[in-house]
Formats: sequence, C-alpha cells, structure tokens
Amino acid sequence: MYEGAVQDLIDELGRLPGVGPKSAQRIAFHLLAADPADVRRLADALVEVKARVQFCTVCGNVSQEELCRVCRDPRRVPSVICVVEEPKDVVAIERTREFRGRYHVLGGAINPIDNVGPDDLRISELMGRLADGTVTEVILATDPNVEGEATSTYLARLLVPMGLRVTRLASGLPVGGDLEYADEVTLGRAFEGRRQISA
Ligand SMILES: [Zn+2]
Repeated sequence: MYEGAVQDLIDELGRLPGVGPKSAQRIAFHLLAADPADVRRLADALVEVKARVQFCTVCGNVSQEELCRVCRDPRRVPSVICVVEEPKDVVAIERTREFRGRYHVLGGAINPIDNVGPDDLRISELMGRLADGTVTEVILATDPNVEGEATSTYLARLLVPMGLRVTRLASGLPVGGDLEYADEVTLGRAFEGRRQISA
C-alpha cells in the first residue's frame, strides 16, 4: 500500500479491464516519472472521451454525433444489418472491407453468470429497426464463444420466423475468442462464407 494519491491512482487503474494489481502499479509509477505534458494529454483524452463521445441513437455504435459515421453514410446498404456485441467489433469488421451494410451493436452478450439477459441488450431497438421491412438480411456476428453463440441462437429464434434471411459468420474464427482478435483475412472469409440459419 502506498500513500494517498499514488494508491488512489493504482486503485483506479486496477479497476480497468485486463489490468491486474502489478500492471496498475507499473503504470502508476510510469506516470509518476513521465513528463507532466504527457500525463496532461492522457488526462485530457479521458475527460474528452466522456464529454464528447456518445452512442449512435440508431445502431448503438460510438459516435461524435447523434448518428454514427456508418448510419450517416447514404452509400451503406440499408437492407442488411450486421449484429455485433460491442463497438470494437464494428471496427474489426470495417477493417475487412467486406461489409457494405449497417450495424447493430447489442452492448454485450447473454451471460447468465454475469446476470446479463436479453433485456439488458439492445434487442428491442433491433426489432424496432426491422419493423418497416427495409431490412431483408440480419448477419449474426457475435463472438465465437459460449455467450456469443447463446446470443445468436436467441436472436435467430426471434428473427427466422419473421421471414428474414438470418445468417451466422462461417466457422474458422478462433473459437472461444473475441471477434476483434480475428485477422482481417479470416474475418473477411467468415463473412463471405456466412451460412443461413433456418427455423
Ligand atoms: Zn449508427
């Protein structure tokens, strides 16, 4: 345990995902030794991101405006929606340049252990987007792990009876992992080889 401000910083850093107590301590002492201007830039970036970045009111992606870049782009195909768990998955898929449709970000995946159920995800918002018949295909691009599969299965049960073409990314993605860890080529192939889910 350290005194006051140093321990406060270590505690706050330690609450970040993927940062254990040792890493928190290492980052804290790195910052203590760093140039004050560098530390100020980091602090400003933290404050700015909370002040300026919001979530797209349509798809739930991160955005600097009410609508995100994808939703604002008239060249994006309105008939296909790709459903993902997190905004970082949008970035991963955009990198492949395979997809010209739009997105829907759920904000997580069904996970009974963490008490995340369907009502905690942006599923009713997705249903709202499907109501007017513009969308004809929904691509389920949740993570290739247990929670992602459970979420896709749940969504397919809702969507297939609506007469939509419902597809799931082809296998070949690293199982148990996160969509964002797949390289562009693999993810691009998984898109191309997506398979239709039937009732
Ligand atoms: Zn959007």
